[in-house]
Amino acid sequence: VNAGALQTTYAAVVADVGFAVKAVWDLGDRQFEVDSHPVQGDGRNGRIWVFDEITAQHRLEQELRRLAATDPLTGLSNRRQFAESGGAMLRQTRADALPLAVLMLDIDHFKSINDRFGHPVGDVVLQATAQRCRAELRQQDLMARMGGEEFAVMLPGVGADEAAATAERLRAAIAAAPVSADELRIEVRVSIGGTGRLAEDRTLDELLGRADQALYTAKRTGRNKVVFE
Ligand code: GH3
Ligand code: MG
Ligand code: MG
Repeated sequence: VNAGALQTTYAAVVADVGFAVKAVWDLGDRQFEVDSHPVQGDGRNGRIWVFDEITAQHRLEQELRRLAATDPLTGLSNRRQFAESGGAMLRQTRADALPLAVLMLDIDHFKSINDRFGHPVGDVVLQATAQRCRAELRQQDLMARMGGEEFAVMLPGVGADEAAATAERLRAAIAAAPVSADELRIEVRVSIGGTGRLAEDRTLDELLGRADQALYTAKRTGRNKVVFE
């Protein structure tokens, strides 16, 4: 399974009798920590190989990494993951001279949904909102739950005009049909603020700040709408 890694290491061992390496090898779905180092004695050269299976630790590490990056209720990225991936997206799109847009989405009068139907139903509304948005987005778009009933979306390679159309699609997808929870059918509306990256934008916070400003305007001027700044 790891013929490539084995050949590379073997070639290094042949080329240099003193060659030493510590590496992790993937063998199918198992991981091994490999330690190869020279030993000398009686004027002879020897070599010790130690193979330590670390599959269990590796899985746990992956799972912890996933948990640390995920919002448990919606399965979306969390705020921390958004900052990390979003920052990388900002740098990458700038390096590639591609546009980039950011949306901030907030459920309208969500508190009254909680108050009328209870917190668990509010949770179902949050999950449905996340699902409906995700279904409208591309694989490469980043969507995160930033907290409470507030979500952020990053659209790499997308300019402001196209992003406004995407935002409108998200808004419409949520307003199109009520969310079912228990026997209830709950009308959900969202407000969305968005912005495209400008030449002078240096940090993610600058973009998010502008999208937030636009969201605030959407809330103030009637809700259930998209505003771009
Ligand atoms: P607006 O239209 O101005 O956005 O009003 P709003 O009621 O949506 O906003 P507000 O910030 O007043 O209320 C947000 C509510 O979201 C309050 C809080 O109890 C609730 N909330 C935050 N996190 C969760 C959660 O994980 N589950 C549920 N069910 N409710 C949550
Ligand atoms: Mg709200
Ligand atoms: Mg809010």
